[in-house]
Amino acid sequence: MKINLNGDGTLKLAIQRSGRLTENTLGLLHSIGLDFESYGQRLFSRCRNFPLSILYVRDDDIPEYVGLGTVDLGIVGRNLIHEEGIAVEELEALGYGVCSLVVAVPKDSAFQEPLDLANATIATSYPRSTRQFFAKLGANPEIVTISGSVEVAPTLGLADAIVDLTSTGSSLILNDLRPLTTILDSEAVLVAHPAAWQDPKKREAIDRLLLRIRAVRAARRFKYLMMNAPVAALDDIKRVVPGLKSPTIIPLDMPGWVAVHTAIEEEVFWESIEKLREAGATEILVSSLDKLLL
Ligand code: ATP
Ligand code: MG
Repeated sequence: MKINLNGDGTLKLAIQRSGRLTENTLGLLHSIGLDFESYGQRLFSRCRNFPLSILYVRDDDIPEYVGLGTVDLGIVGRNLIHEEGIAVEELEALGYGVCSLVVAVPKDSAFQEPLDLANATIATSYPRSTRQFFAKLGANPEIVTISGSVEVAPTLGLADAIVDLTSTGSSLILNDLRPLTTILDSEAVLVAHPAAWQDPKKREAIDRLLLRIRAVRAARRFKYLMMNAPVAALDDIKRVVPGLKSPTIIPLDMPGWVAVHTAIEEEVFWESIEKLREAGATEILVSSLDKLLL
């Protein structure tokens, strides 16, 4: 059976079939209201309520699929887009799969800066990113490309240093390595084939997806806050919670008191609650937002 992926007006999105990005990617797609089956070993799903087909592939193949226009969209680590050097449109950073591509050396080695590695041997699964990084410094170290367990290469005597992805740094520490410098900060990104992004019909559907993704991501960043306060405290309260624009203020059935509703960023949440109490707010209620249409 030939799957008709092209020519039916449906957008095609490639995502990682099984790996570190898969769970969050499927979670994101379901949270923006897409209805599709994602269980089992399927190769692709068609959304029932959106003109979108989802292809499940190896993450390494996603940059090329998007670059060639085999699919219109992909969700993949920025590290792979950078490595493949393929021209795609990065539409949105998605906030998961956060990691960095770093140069790391044995803990006790004398290497202090990247140029100390000009004549060294470097093991990596990211040869192009590595070559490009050192070329910009005017250096051309020997690069050994290996596909897995890069961090053991120095212990095995295979290389003097490595270039690898790290998120917490724990696997570097575990292998007695220390990071020297960061080549690239990465996270999962939504990318588009440039022609798909320029095509008015596809663009319309992509824009709908983007609006939903942004709404869900914004909602995760914010909490909805409700409180009661004396009118006299309002100026102080507004200073603590500038809100998205101005807070909503509702008179209470109690002279001199109002209810204040606003959205507040998760990051400053606890700190702000303390300040609100000091300013005179009481009965502070918090709720999570589901979608936030900015
Ligand atoms: P596939 O079988 O699809 O080729 P893979 O084994 O090559 O998968 P994963 O290990 O699942 O890839 O990693 C997928 C992506 O997750 C990476 O390209 C990177 O963007 C991101 N990532 C986040 N944290 C880390 C980390 N600590 N180490 C490696 N990748 C990470
Ligand atoms: Mg891979």
